[in-house]
Amino acid sequence: MAKHPVPKKKVSQARTARRHAAFTRKKHVRLNGIVNVIACDSCGQPKMNQFACPSCGTFRGKTLMKSEVATKGIKKIKA
Ligand SMILES: [Zn+2]
Repeated sequence: MAKHPVPKKKVSQARTARRHAAFTRKKHVRLNGIVNVIACDSCGQPKMNQFACPSCGTFRGKTLMKSEVATKGIKKIKA
């Protein structure tokens, strides 16, 4: 006897796709309420609200980060 639950019938491909699509739709709704993404004032790229823009490095009209550092990051460490 099987100790784990065994499905009686095979779940069809369409039914699986429908279930996954419903999950994706719900995920979008959940993220809309939590993550506050707006367009940047200076460059127009999507950025998190209340955070400096990762592409141009500005926040409320002031440049806080250099765009090179923001996009490329540190690649070489001088020893
Ligand atoms: Zn920007």
